[in-house]
Amino acid sequence: NRQILLASRPVGAPTAANFNLVETAIPAVGTGQMLLRNRWMSLDPYMRGRMSDAKSYADPVPVGGVMTCATVSEVLESKLDGYAAGDLVMSFASGWQDYTLSDGAMVFRLDNNMKEPSQALGVLGMPGFTGYMGLTDIGQPKAGETVVVAAATGPVGTVVGQVAKLMGCRVVGVAGGADKCRYAVEELGFDACIDHKADDLNDKLIAACPKGIDVYFENVGGKVFDAVMPLLNPHARIPLCGLIAQYNATELPAGPDRLPQLMRLMLSQRIRMQGFIIFDNYGHCFPDFLKTMTPWVESGKVRVKEDRVEGLENAPEAFIGLLEGKNFGKLVVKIAD
Ligand code: NDP
Repeated sequence: NRQILLASRPVGAPTAANFNLVETAIPAVGTGQMLLRNRWMSLDPYMRGRMSDAKSYADPVPVGGVMTCATVSEVLESKLDGYAAGDLVMSFASGWQDYTLSDGAMVFRLDNNMKEPSQALGVLGMPGFTGYMGLTDIGQPKAGETVVVAAATGPVGTVVGQVAKLMGCRVVGVAGGADKCRYAVEELGFDACIDHKADDLNDKLIAACPKGIDVYFENVGGKVFDAVMPLLNPHARIPLCGLIAQYNATELPAGPDRLPQLMRLMLSQRIRMQGFIIFDNYGHCFPDFLKTMTPWVESGKVRVKEDRVEGLENAPEAFIGLLEGKNFGKLVVKIAD
């Protein structure tokens, strides 16, 4: 059973030295347990938080512990009521490893005949659910309004933008590089997509949002938020979902303190910004979300982009790349057939 452990806590951007690949025995199955063969594992930005011991909404992975993740897995052996060998499941309490011993906690059954099981980690899983709930419940977009979302070609951003289009909004994405921007407009149907690596981000965003911004779905922070701020309309809503531009930061950004400016803007424009942690805020809505999103995916109304990496041993490098925008679509690692 190959496992990837947290070898040390990163300072700044994670490196290969923060991870350690070890080989251990396949665990024996006790009463009330089942053994999962992990097929697909999910790599997500939140894992940077688990590598750190800074205060957060979840406990960190201990140094020397197995890196946590969600997996799509097959039940190999079961001494747990309700599960049998051959069942396909999604486990939120899995790890960067070949096999997981499970007591059924945080495990959800998948359709054994699911065509693309890895989608349970993306569009039909935690990230898709995040984009959908943050947009609809906090963003509350109305037809004709302008919605802006960064990390636009990732699993959260693609759902935010496509659902906002289905709701009749003008959608402007922000993404890293020309290929991602082209994909957002040509394949996902966004009205515009701005490259945040280009020098003219502010001017391009102004041009793409002639009526200002009504909903800014915040995935990144940093200079994208700085460009968005002056364009926010009265009563704008900001679902505060993620701040990936800051995850590797070791200190506050340079320059003047802009907090007073932000607070003044929020007051004068009556802006509502709300942070949320998806399963904490909305866990009970997951079945309803699946009922809505599954037919949209099956009919092609919502398009899906995955970035598939082969082999557990390549997970650390892929994860490091995710924080630098090297992924193009939902990042999943294939561990076994
Ligand atoms: P993605 O697959 O979109 O990957 C992250 C992307 O962020 C990168 O590909 C890159 O895209 C972009 N990025 C990285 N650094 C920067 C930067 N400095 N400035 C601008 N963009 C940057 O990730 P997800 O869709 O899985 O997640 C998106 C966000 O949602 C993350 O912040 C994540 O933490 C958050 N999240 C929050 C949840 C919650 O419950 N609150 C649940 C799930 C996700 P590009 O090349 O286009 O810049």
